[in-house]
Amino acid sequence: MKPQSLVLTLMLGSLLFACKPTAYTVYPGLETEPVGSSGDAADDAAIFIHPTDMDKNAIIGTDKQLGLLVYNNKGEVVHEYPFGRINNVDLRQNIEWNGESITIVGGSNRTDNTLGFYRLNENTLELTPLQKEPVLSTVSEVYGFCLYRGDAMYAFVVGKDGVVEQYALKPEPDGDLLAERVRIFDVGSQCEGLVADDEQHVLFVGEETYGVWKYGARPDDGEDRELIVALSANKNIKADVEGITLYYGTKEDPKGFLIISSQGNHTYAVFQRLPPHDYLGSFKIEGQDNIDGTYDTDGIDVTHLPFSKAFPDGIFVAQDGDNGQETQNFKIVNWKAIEGRFNQ
Ligand code: CA
Ligand code: CA
Ligand code: CA
Ligand code: CA
Repeated sequence: MKPQSLVLTLMLGSLLFACKPTAYTVYPGLETEPVGSSGDAADDAAIFIHPTDMDKNAIIGTDKQLGLLVYNNKGEVVHEYPFGRINNVDLRQNIEWNGESITIVGGSNRTDNTLGFYRLNENTLELTPLQKEPVLSTVSEVYGFCLYRGDAMYAFVVGKDGVVEQYALKPEPDGDLLAERVRIFDVGSQCEGLVADDEQHVLFVGEETYGVWKYGARPDDGEDRELIVALSANKNIKADVEGITLYYGTKEDPKGFLIISSQGNHTYAVFQRLPPHDYLGSFKIEGQDNIDGTYDTDGIDVTHLPFSKAFPDGIFVAQDGDNGQETQNFKIVNWKAIEGRFNQ
């Protein structure tokens, strides 16, 4: 190669390198109190938005060595429940339950390989068990978990063996929760992140070292599936695929996003919520002021609804696997700072 063409090649190479897609940086505006347990303990989070009183908004977080934590909208622990080693958590609001409208919180409990369901008191933010006996799962070590509201209420759980179970949830006359298994299928290898789209009636499943599958969420949808994210084809995502969450969008712009926690490079990958589920880019949470960024990240959740006076445009919540000198916790980012980067 002539020296001139070598220089040109090098220049072109560095230009291409400069254009390589990188993750946008956002900064946390708040962090929760650290969890009580040391080591890998915090894992997943679910946001509760009170229908009328912003000061009763909350984040339900898992301490997978202990149980569930309820944080207020300042990130302070208001209740701590030693329900067991709950790994993942999800919630649905306004669930018709024997004539009442209630908020249901559910999780995968590794202490006794069960699913636990709780009613959230919307005023005191207390949790009380909804079922007499926890729902015993047949998968090998319950791991990922999500709720789905279709024609009825459902819960999905996936075991470390990659087997998914779907349960239909309904109230008995006395209000106790009855869970009936309505489907079981095998994804292939270890999975964790699960999220159901209540509008599209689909279930997204993260196979940790492989990618993200889309299944039908209805109990009679069988085993048909589509690989919408392949780690081998998207170098911006590094195993494990961890938490998965959905942003439904607003009435004015209902397209929304599917967000995936990319644990191996401490970033979050953003996709179209609707087909063809194109990749829109990634972001990372870096430290600023007195709050550190997220590292080795796990579960995530998002809302565009006002969370507190400090977060009038919603929040993105992410588990932080390394909280410096303190035990793990959850970081909270202004959702507007993220959404603005990913116009479709
Ligand atoms: Ca973790
Ligand atoms: Ca995992
Ligand atoms: Ca950190
Ligand atoms: Ca996890």
